[in-house]
Amino acid sequence: MQNEDQLKTTYYLKNTTACPVCGREFIREELLSGRGRLIAGKLTDELRRLYEPSKKYGKINPLKYPITVCPDCLYAVFHEDFEKIPEKNLDSAQSNADKRIQLVLQTFGPLDFDQPRDEKKGIASYFLALNCYSFMDKGVAPTVKKGICALRAAWMLGDLEAEEKKGNYGYIQNIMYRNAKHFYETSMSNIQTGQESLDGIKLGPDTDKNWGYEGFLYIVSILQFKMGFLEKDLEKRAKKYIVTKRVISKLFGTGKSSKSKPSMILDMAHDLYDKISQYIKEIEAELGKKLI
Ligand SMILES: [Zn+2]
Repeated sequence: MQNEDQLKTTYYLKNTTACPVCGREFIREELLSGRGRLIAGKLTDELRRLYEPSKKYGKINPLKYPITVCPDCLYAVFHEDFEKIPEKNLDSAQSNADKRIQLVLQTFGPLDFDQPRDEKKGIASYFLALNCYSFMDKGVAPTVKKGICALRAAWMLGDLEAEEKKGNYGYIQNIMYRNAKHFYETSMSNIQTGQESLDGIKLGPDTDKNWGYEGFLYIVSILQFKMGFLEKDLEKRAKKYIVTKRVISKLFGTGKSSKSKPSMILDMAHDLYDKISQYIKEIEAELGKKLI
């Protein structure tokens, strides 16, 4: 017989966390990942790690837990940044609390963050963090973190839509993908102008592995590729794809794999490069002219 303790997939930390915005103290739920609880499945083309349900523990989604959320004012960011909100922004973060509460209510109805995380609270935690990174200084790379939050929210909204099939989560998923593309692109231009740095930042994009700068460039490219259809003018669309090919080229570098540049991501980037090249050719054929 298994007792309840042995079948637990999360636990609560003994020490309390204090919210820097409203002062509320709470205990944080953490994932237990050992003893065969997490069975890694395949990696998607968006570098998302899928997990097989375990017979003993059921379905576990590690994406639900990395964002710490204050149960009262709903201030929320990645745990490692929770205390890093600058003092100058505390007042605005506090006066924004009503907006955060409304944001959650409108999408999911009331959610109690003192209780264990479910899928909806997991998604809401990323919505809230997307909002709260506006209060953070550039030292924590808030722009790319907004991108990561939007991307993970999009993944989880896709899961929820597949389960409930009501259409509304799919609609918000598209908005989150557009947000992800916007923030990843803005982050890339912030790096180029020296406004933000990704040094020492966990770039994920998933919780299982940090794919580093190459992973970052790959995500920018795949989001640009998948959302290319948003540009209705074919010639403009092809020109955007030409820019995306340049982003992927940066990723190739010498073309050799190394510890920081695993061969897997090079292979995925090559596939994407070929797909985009093919698509540009098709547009050129349709327009009857060369664009490069
Ligand atoms: Zn709070």
